Amino acid sequence: TEACLKAIEDAGALNAFVHKTPELAMERAAAADTRLKAGDAPAMCGLPVGIKDLFCTKGVESQAASAILDGFKPEYESTVSQQLADAGAVMLGKLNMDEFAMGSSNETSTYGNVVNPWRRGNDDAPLTPGGSSGGSASAVAADLCLAATGTDTGGSIRQPAAFTGITGIKPTYGRCSRWGIIAFASSLDQAGPMTKSVRDAAIMLEAMCGHDPKDSTSADLAVPNFEAMLTGDIKGKKIGIPKEYRMEGMPGEIEQLWADGAAMLKDAGAEIVDISLPHTKYALPAYYVIAPAEASSNLARYDGVRYGQRASLAQGDGITEMYEKTRAEGFGPEVQRRVMIGTYVLSAGFYDAYYNRARRVRTLIKKDFEDVFAQGVDAILTPATPSAAFGLGEMTDADPVQMYLNDVFTVTVNLAGLPGISVPAGVDKQGLPLGLQLIGRPWEEGDLLNTAYALE
Ligand code: GLN
Repeated sequence: TEACLKAIEDAGALNAFVHKTPELAMERAAAADTRLKAGDAPAMCGLPVGIKDLFCTKGVESQAASAILDGFKPEYESTVSQQLADAGAVMLGKLNMDEFAMGSSNETSTYGNVVNPWRRGNDDAPLTPGGSSGGSASAVAADLCLAATGTDTGGSIRQPAAFTGITGIKPTYGRCSRWGIIAFASSLDQAGPMTKSVRDAAIMLEAMCGHDPKDSTSADLAVPNFEAMLTGDIKGKKIGIPKEYRMEGMPGEIEQLWADGAAMLKDAGAEIVDISLPHTKYALPAYYVIAPAEASSNLARYDGVRYGQRASLAQGDGITEMYEKTRAEGFGPEVQRRVMIGTYVLSAGFYDAYYNRARRVRTLIKKDFEDVFAQGVDAILTPATPSAAFGLGEMTDADPVQMYLNDVFTVTVNLAGLPGISVPAGVDKQGLPLGLQLIGRPWEEGDLLNTAYALE
């Protein structure tokens, strides 16, 4: 814990940790020492971790990297961060992210962007760590903590993991309680671990999972010992390669990475089969209707009354001006864009044309996966992202749709509620890490982790 706290101070330029809790960390580390000495050590006893700013942590700022939650210190602890503490993990502080987890580059944060510890060859230009869990990814990749929590609504664990050369898993929707995690799009949001290895991911995921009566979508299922399932034996497993993910204009090195990954799994005894997920091309548009729709509803609670900041008002301002000024000042441009899109697609005149249609598309996407699993496919292999990490500022000024396109391989998994993992699988020509994604059957994270283990 001391070494990590020092590393965090030395790596301030990465802007990964936005609220540090050194006293609390040293207290928890001392408690972990006592438990270790007493021979009563839980799975993560004394392991220093970082927690994404989206998780409510009791008495510690929890702002979802938004100005509208300035100074918000919850009186409660999220179920997942509580379970990690119960497993002995030591929280070092809160990690930077895109505002309300909306973004793919960690540039929408009220605290400013995060820097990726990796560089393109000899070029010093700073790169994005991806998003929205960019602080988590950067902190783990730069050894500021042993592991971190992330959340994934449309790729926010897997894409930053791929951009920084670490492992990140989004479990099946319902595996981890969402209670106490600031909501973005409730039907898509899931927490998961971001770690240095598949084994670490297995250990941490087990600590994070479990039924929680406080989240009505949390699954009442036993949590397996994921670590014990890492045998590396994948003989006879059927791995699907979906043809729709072979996008036009895909860089040669991503094609190569994908082919190498398939070859590696084949060498380990898996059977590689071509599959089709015909509705893939509708996933991104459906996601960018559903996620903003849910976000606009979830973010209605930030009204200047119940949480965080209220704008200063002029003489004669009424309640409408109070809402308008508070929300205009408190939300950044990307969040405002999402609220506007969401409100529009949910409005009476457009609900059927956009929101309902997107929901139907979502059902078809889910069915594509069900059909493939019914054919005996155990896992699906795809690239995690269409490129390696891009430069800071490279995408922000462009059309926002360019940024959304980054999520093309990851959003399907959230729409279908499936588990997905990104594992580091190689580097591009400039030495930047690239990730491969494996998508598994619902509730079979153990098998998925084991297949990823064979790729590691
Ligand atoms: N990049 C996606 C978005 O901006 C995904 C975000 C996430 O998974 N939290 O919505």
